Amino acid sequence: MRYNRLIELRYSSEAAVSKRERVRRELLQGSPHLGGGDISRIYQSDLASLFDLYDKIFFHSYFHEHFLGQLFFSLSTRMVKNAGKTLCPRNLKELSPAEERYELRISAILLFNYGILERDKVVSGIRTRDSLEALQLVFEHELCHLIELHCYKESSCRRARFQSLAFNIFGHTGSTHQLPVAAEVGREKYGLSVGDWVTFQHDGGKLSGIISRITRRATVMVPDDGGVYQDQGGRRYSKYYVPLQLLRRR
Ligand SMILES: [Zn+2]
Repeated sequence: MRYNRLIELRYSSEAAVSKRERVRRELLQGSPHLGGGDISRIYQSDLASLFDLYDKIFFHSYFHEHFLGQLFFSLSTRMVKNAGKTLCPRNLKELSPAEERYELRISAILLFNYGILERDKVVSGIRTRDSLEALQLVFEHELCHLIELHCYKESSCRRARFQSLAFNIFGHTGSTHQLPVAAEVGREKYGLSVGDWVTFQHDGGKLSGIISRITRRATVMVPDDGGVYQDQGGRRYSKYYVPLQLLRRR
């Protein structure tokens, strides 16, 4: 069965490392946007090139030669916790090989925030040296989802089958990432957490409120008798989205 060409792939950890380095070199050589290991700009076309390199270097061009469906790549500025995601049609099991379509989505935010905190950043059990390496490891994780979806029409990185696939091909020893997420950046870099009282400038005045959420910005609920949001005690608020660096703790 042709699926075996994917699910029976095995590389030693050393082989996986040297293949990963080869992907990196060839990606940097070919991309007009990526200047080095620290990513400050990236485009969908870079993800498409990355995929072609993985296909050639890890998968013996399986996808180029045998995959009949469609693949899409996207970068998200909204994914603030997940580093990547692989989307597929709900009725995948009913589709013919030519109707298969998948989208690999990568969080641009987590890549751009990579250097914001000084600490080890482990992805899929492997310590990364820069955001390009983190991108590769996140991408490899999504490639394992793609392989499972293509071959078994379902996928879960919490299950043993996924974890052996990711270990056998890429040497991954974990399924999660420890990249700086918004809440940690807020706490470590700005000393801000959900529940804190803060002040900020607005329309020439100063407002104060409580942080209810931290993503790229903080959501601040400001007490306001005319506000449309109401808490359980009947107190009313207006909602503001404020960049973290503009907030002061009260
Ligand atoms: Zn996963």
